[in-house]
Amino acid sequence: MDLSLIIPVFNEGKCLDNLIQRCLSVCRPLGQEFEIILVDDGSWDDSRKIIEAKSAIEAEVLGIFLNHNYGQHAAVMAGFAQAQGEILVTLDADLQNPPEEIPRLLEKINLGHDVVGSVRRKRQDTKFRTTVSHWVNHMVRIITKVNMHDYGCMLRAYRRPIVEALLACRDSTRFIPVLANFFAVNPVEIDVDHAQRDTGDSKYNIFRLINLYVDLLICMSTFPLRLASVAGILMSFVGLAAGLFLLCGRFFFGSIWAVDGIFTVFSLEFILLGGIYLSVGILGEYMARLYNTARNRPLYCIQRVVGRTEKDNL
Ligand code: UDP
Ligand code: MG
Repeated sequence: MDLSLIIPVFNEGKCLDNLIQRCLSVCRPLGQEFEIILVDDGSWDDSRKIIEAKSAIEAEVLGIFLNHNYGQHAAVMAGFAQAQGEILVTLDADLQNPPEEIPRLLEKINLGHDVVGSVRRKRQDTKFRTTVSHWVNHMVRIITKVNMHDYGCMLRAYRRPIVEALLACRDSTRFIPVLANFFAVNPVEIDVDHAQRDTGDSKYNIFRLINLYVDLLICMSTFPLRLASVAGILMSFVGLAAGLFLLCGRFFFGSIWAVDGIFTVFSLEFILLGGIYLSVGILGEYMARLYNTARNRPLYCIQRVVGRTEKDNL
């Protein structure tokens, strides 16, 4: 098998017909053996029915049904584990990543790159998402030292050895683009189009988004842990300086001034408390991930596979 497209699907029933048609129209003229793997991440709309029906008609379409919702990256990992292609391309189901860009990714792969990332040329998301994403990209670039410009864009191509390395990771969370670039020998980025969502809304609300960004930071770096220690030391110095200041004030201006200064003490205490809570929180994030890794539960659980593999198994 030359090429596998891996597409995570979570309640995207309305986009699927169009998506599959466009992917087939792009891949068939390439003259390569290919498969389109749709990983249903616990949808409750008609996504599964559509995937099943399509996989019965189109030989290249394969469906993997997870038993509940594990998140976009876990779904892509499930697709990777089943894929047989030498080159693997990921994209979203909502048609925000135009399938027509795939040949441009393959062009770069054929030039010898092992990972082809992409940067959304004119991102069609809300101002809030775009702004947060800009700052997160910037911060992650500094912290992880993985030089990418758009961590969130999943329209990407990988050579098989990179995917094998991703599958061999034992982390309980895997932020695929960053990990893949970590393993890559000569990654490259291209500009790609980004469309409005075909139908429906983004599956990332504010809580899921925070979760995703925390995963992104923590899966690649222990820098936040050091940040907590540095913040703690800085706050101790500030506390010490403020204590000395208050002592001098009391010495020069008497105890009445010091009683007024009680609010300064309060505010300092709140700053210190904030620092302590922040440090404990950061520790907690790592602890939770250590705990999940120690439990060693599978990243996802496949309920059923429909399409090519089902026929192969007969
Ligand atoms: N997705 C998924 N599981 C989830 C959330 C999202 O498989 O828990 C899929 C979703 O169906 C889509 C892709 O991941 O194909 C990207 O999701 P979305 O378009 O909501 O993200 P956004 O474009 O807003 O970043
Ligand atoms: Mg989207």
